[in-house]
Amino acid sequence: MQKKHGKKEYTPHIEPDTAPLCEAANCINKGVYKAPKSKNQLQDYHWLCLDHIKEYNQKWDYFNGMTTAEIEEFMQDAVTGHRPTWNRESRLREPASQLHDALYEFLAGTRKAKKTLPPLSSKLQKALAVMDMDYPFSQKILKDQYKKLVKKHHPDVNKGNKLSEEKFKKITESYHLLAAYLKSDLYKS
Ligand SMILES: [Zn+2]
Repeated sequence: MQKKHGKKEYTPHIEPDTAPLCEAANCINKGVYKAPKSKNQLQDYHWLCLDHIKEYNQKWDYFNGMTTAEIEEFMQDAVTGHRPTWNRESRLREPASQLHDALYEFLAGTRKAKKTLPPLSSKLQKALAVMDMDYPFSQKILKDQYKKLVKKHHPDVNKGNKLSEEKFKKITESYHLLAAYLKSDLYKS
């Protein structure tokens, strides 16, 4: 029996129906596999398709020897699409930063060709911001986040606080907007 990846068995972590799109740049497959963002963020995942989880796991091994802060900073940048602040040219000779770059390209590098991702209207983008979430997201991620925010901002918990009331209203509106988006044809195509 051949087992290239040893310990890793690639059983999907989430139903394709509820999965977000793979987070790898330009990939339109369902992200049914989750990968922890870092050793310190084991509850925080990237959602990837089979091809990309394999690639990701291979590259993840290369992070060995880097500090958690370095990895986290990098992953954060890669996911949000912001260029890292470190000077790329000056660090290119270091092996670690080459790998940095490799994974950066993998997650965010070809982001220029964004066309394959469904464009989000500014309304939906605002809703995502209100929910403090990133694109892409699954039904489950949305629901979990909604529950979390409701607990925090529910008028019953913040008696008489006008600001909380406003926030609660916005959260509920945003939740319904995003839930409707997930059910729309736009998302499925
Ligand atoms: Zn993918």
